[in-house]
Amino acid sequence: MVTSTRCVVAGGGPGGVVLAYLLARAGVPVTLLEARGDFDRRFRGDALAPPVLDLLDLLGLADPLLAAVPHGTADAFVWSTPTRSYRLADYRRASAKYPYYALVPQGRFLPFMVEQAARHPAFRLELGARVTALTRDDAGRVAGLEYSRDGQRHRLSADLVVGADGRNSKVRLLSSITATELGAHLDICWVEVPRRADDPALSGLELLAEPGATLAVLGQAASWQLGYTIPAGTFPALRATGIGQVAAALRRRLPWLGDRLDGLTDVNQLSLLPVRITSVDRWSEPGLLLVGDAAHVISPVGGNGLNFALLDAVEAANRLVGPLSADPVDPAEVDAATAAVEAARRPQVDREQVAQKRVEEGAARRLQTADPRPPLVLRLLAGVPGVARLVAWRGARALQAPPVNPRILHPSA
Ligand SMILES: Cc1cc2nc3c(=O)[nH]c(=O)nc-3n(C[C@H](O)[C@H](O)[C@H](O)COP(=O)(O)OP(=O)(O)OC[C@H]3O[C@@H](n4cnc5c(N)ncnc54)[C@H](O)[C@@H]3O)c2cc1C
Repeated sequence: MVTSTRCVVAGGGPGGVVLAYLLARAGVPVTLLEARGDFDRRFRGDALAPPVLDLLDLLGLADPLLAAVPHGTADAFVWSTPTRSYRLADYRRASAKYPYYALVPQGRFLPFMVEQAARHPAFRLELGARVTALTRDDAGRVAGLEYSRDGQRHRLSADLVVGADGRNSKVRLLSSITATELGAHLDICWVEVPRRADDPALSGLELLAEPGATLAVLGQAASWQLGYTIPAGTFPALRATGIGQVAAALRRRLPWLGDRLDGLTDVNQLSLLPVRITSVDRWSEPGLLLVGDAAHVISPVGGNGLNFALLDAVEAANRLVGPLSADPVDPAEVDAATAAVEAARRPQVDREQVAQKRVEEGAARRLQTADPRPPLVLRLLAGVPGVARLVAWRGARALQAPPVNPRILHPSA
């Protein structure tokens, strides 16, 4: 079966779903292909930053999302050693309406966004549709793709193929774009325990460091998501020694979890996130664009993988809505728009990756030493009144979305 569309988006993660929603909202025919049969997923980037919540608000989505989906909120990032806490970022002034990170599980965020997209007739979704090949025209321009679903091969031609298929992007592999691993020094093992009403009031984004161990504590709506940091590639060694050291670190630093840790008996209960920082030589080639993790894996430092994917989606939709609405579509205009997406987004991504590498290297070094404190400069700054708010404000500015194209905001105007 051969069909055609204006834009086909491969991958129904946050980047792909939001891009498809925005294009459909503007009336651009778009097909979203997701390899999995559902949007159920756990332990993914799910912290929506204050400016990204502002962006969703502009689109009329933030309040309905937060009303529909139970979520945690984090108004600060706190780094604690066994003896002292440092409030390194304070988000209480980072947005007038949403002065916090909202921890909205992707397993709920994605279906919510798909439901919004499905209100627009230009949107089409195929679940269980795995992209297997790119198709090209005689000049070598990407002209569509092939995918398998229900054991059958399908072909879809499109004026633009977007690879939003994550860190191991098949679309990227099939393209002429090459990826480079910038190196990462840590991996994270995640586990979740129920949250109770009388638990201590943590900020929602906490790092608990002690000599030889670092824990991340994320306050989800009904659970605590706990991350145990290990040197990159050492999960097999952890598997061999057993879960004892992880459970012991959790008991030491979070004794109030009490019997909730009793069930933690098997390494297989941990969900491993191999941290990666990946850069590509370019985000596009004629007829094709990469967004989100497909274009740039960033580490969980800062918790912004989701936010970066959403900002890519907005930038891409802004630039593409004009060219993809034209009749006929001018391929040169489409390619100019995809190049402009990279030009607009890449500097921020590159800066973030450089900063993350530095932070990660420091964290890995600290894991080997007896000093669990934040770097000296952060310790000094944490003591200065107002600095934590300034840090959060600067972080929010860096995640500021571009003005949304009026053709998306007010499609019928
Ligand atoms: C296992 C894992 C754990 C993570 N944990 C954290 C974390 O703890 N903290 C944090 O900040 N960030 C985390 N991240 C990163 C964060 O989730 C991502 O940065 C964010 O989801 C990026 O969104 P995306 O849309 O670019 O890609 P993804 O969310 O990866 O979505 C890609 C989608 O493409 C689909 N797909 C893949 N191949 C194909 C194909 N051939 N055809 C069709 N569809 C395909 C996948 O099923 C998936 O739904 C994690 C990522 C992963 C993969």
